[in-house]
Amino acid sequence: MAPKKPSSSGGGASKKSGDKDGGARVMYWFRTDLRLHDSPALQAALDLKPQAFFPLWCWDPNYIYKHRVGINRFRFLLESMSALSSSLHSLNPLSQLLVVRGDPCDLLPELFKRWGITHLAFERDPNDEYVRQRDDQARKDAKANGVEVLDGYGHHLYDIREVLKAHNNEPTLTLGALQSAVSKFGDPAKPIDAPKSIPSPLLKDDVASPPQDIKDLLPKLLKSLEGLPEYSKKKGPEYDLNSHELGGQRSTGESGKVTCYDSLVGPDASESIKSTFSVPTLESLGMDAKAARVSVPSLIPGGEAEGLKRLERVIKDTKYIATFSKPKTSPCQDTSEASTTLLSPYLKFGCVSVRKFWWDAVEASKQYKGAGKTSPPENIQGQLLFREMYSVAEAGVGETYKRVHANPISRYIDWYLPTVYDSKGKEIIPRPAGDAASEARYAAFVEARTGFPFIDAAVKQLKTTGWIHHLARHSLASFLTRGQCWISWERGAEFFDEHLIDWDPASNPGNWMWLSCSAFFHQYYRVYGLATFPQKYDPSGSLIRKYCPELKDFPDKHIYAPHTAPLEVQRKAKCEIGKDYPAPILDEKKEKEHCIARMKVAYAKGWRGDAKEVLEGKAQEILRKEHGVPDPTLPEGYKAQENKDKIPKWAQRKEEDDEAQKKQGGKKRKGEKDEEEDHKASDTSTKTLSKKAKK
Ligand SMILES: Cc1cc2nc3c(=O)[nH]c(=O)nc-3n(C[C@H](O)[C@H](O)[C@H](O)COP(=O)(O)OP(=O)(O)OC[C@H]3O[C@@H](n4cnc5c(N)ncnc54)[C@H](O)[C@@H]3O)c2cc1C
Repeated sequence: MAPKKPSSSGGGASKKSGDKDGGARVMYWFRTDLRLHDSPALQAALDLKPQAFFPLWCWDPNYIYKHRVGINRFRFLLESMSALSSSLHSLNPLSQLLVVRGDPCDLLPELFKRWGITHLAFERDPNDEYVRQRDDQARKDAKANGVEVLDGYGHHLYDIREVLKAHNNEPTLTLGALQSAVSKFGDPAKPIDAPKSIPSPLLKDDVASPPQDIKDLLPKLLKSLEGLPEYSKKKGPEYDLNSHELGGQRSTGESGKVTCYDSLVGPDASESIKSTFSVPTLESLGMDAKAARVSVPSLIPGGEAEGLKRLERVIKDTKYIATFSKPKTSPCQDTSEASTTLLSPYLKFGCVSVRKFWWDAVEASKQYKGAGKTSPPENIQGQLLFREMYSVAEAGVGETYKRVHANPISRYIDWYLPTVYDSKGKEIIPRPAGDAASEARYAAFVEARTGFPFIDAAVKQLKTTGWIHHLARHSLASFLTRGQCWISWERGAEFFDEHLIDWDPASNPGNWMWLSCSAFFHQYYRVYGLATFPQKYDPSGSLIRKYCPELKDFPDKHIYAPHTAPLEVQRKAKCEIGKDYPAPILDEKKEKEHCIARMKVAYAKGWRGDAKEVLEGKAQEILRKEHGVPDPTLPEGYKAQENKDKIPKWAQRKEEDDEAQKKQGGKKRKGEKDEEEDHKASDTSTKTLSKKAKK
């Protein structure tokens, strides 16, 4: 497929290739794609041979307050922004990333005027409702100011809007559907090289005689912004989802404010040129990595160069690439030794172009002459196509994709702790508390004290490093939803929103729907064993020994289920269950049976989030009455806060259990399977689900 030219809109014909003075003046708005290589919008902007080029970043309050973002993701972003700024500076010593702090919808129209902008260029962000509204507004403002918009699609393999059209505007719910839709477009475009130079961000008066040094240029830009509305003078946000009070990692001390908005262009910008238009710091966001116990320094450093280095390392191993088989990669390795590529954070922030990844992998596969080459869905290309599949699904559903209520593709299931809406349909934030047992289960999950070591270790790995393996995500998502806890996938997605560096508005809700059997995947009777599944990959439990060190001296036999160890074994391991490590918060097998019974009823009803009964608020009661499964309860004597729970009866190891297991020869019961191959299985066994699932 030939690289598609960025689309262009807005602006009068006279402005198309420049202003009255002859040259184009480009504002290049960096958002998610923090790189210089393979950026069609950047290329199109530079093809104009502009007289001035302003690399802009708006430090948007929406993402500071209204979006859950934890320290690891902010840190990765800040590192990527700094790296980008350095790259721009090395291409042109008069340039750097120009970071302005405020709402882009307020700032862009002002900057168009003050900097005499003729063209606004950007790569299209991965969709979500906020992005759609923000970009629509930016386009309107550009048009009103006679500014032409050049946008490209550098974030995906294909133009998601075109793929959606090719799929009759229906969300793609299987990989097969996605593959068939993209087949019309041929191969993804080949990546384009990074530019060798960029023009300077010159005010009109300086074009004829530009400043010699960035130290002379920045004060002029600073002056040009005088009188611009400051975000700090505005009323402030309705709520701060990242505050400690709402469960986030931000601690703002007595002032209760972040300091990153104290000035429009950086701290003390009027006094120190170095900090003018600078990248904010974690501290200015009220975030402290050490206090939050995230890994310091980061195990996944941000930036284009870091991403390309990682890609090169992965691609060099042609056998690994050519024979990559996702279900065979281990979820039990630590982030520093990931068994998959760990490129997702770099794709999320666009530090690495997905098309470069695709084509480098194609070349590596060609070079490998051995046996065992793999193909979609389990190979590298298959993984990248899943990413497209979720993006097209999101684009097809629109605003309701990230929730259950009114979502035409998500099955309605009577989860506990669903998102709650007011009478006007607005989400209530903070969410009103649900039933005590589910709240306690959810708290135990997010605080890594469920008493199931692999679950707790994976949660700790995620919170510490910002990443976990795909199958560890499977284990967590299955456990929290239809495996045991019967808690809405919305709560799980919310938790991942905060902690994943690679959080993506399409892939995260999409995968949660998949794992909870709400959409994309439907084999709800296939549930991950909380010990048996990870044990297959790593019988010695190294991830647990690292992230739950209190369990490190348990023998392999008991590391995944220490509550089943005899007391003398626990004492020898210096860890008594219920005292030094929590007893399980629920009975794995009993809850699994409850969940399957509930699922049968929900599936028989076949309601999606937009069913009449759901919209009228009647669905939950009807389903609960029909399946008759009792509300969740906590183990007798459960005391979450003190972490000194007694071992409930069902969690105590019984000799008869061992005997029974021996008699069964360790075999699984009928219908009891793990589902490590579910991506593959589901894709061949499911068809596009809902014809009516439209935007
Ligand atoms: C509950 C849950 C939530 C998830 N949330 C996200 C998310 O917010 N952002 C995200 O990028 N991935 C998400 N994933 C998908 C997947 O787990 C990660 O993409 C993958 O683990 C990233 O590691 P990697 O780069 O080593 O992947 P690799 O196995 O090396 O795959 C290469 C790339 O393919 C893409 N990819 C692979 N699997 C998937 C998938 N199932 N869905 C979408 N893209 C995929 C990613 O971009 C990844 O970097 C989620 C999975 C689950 C089960």
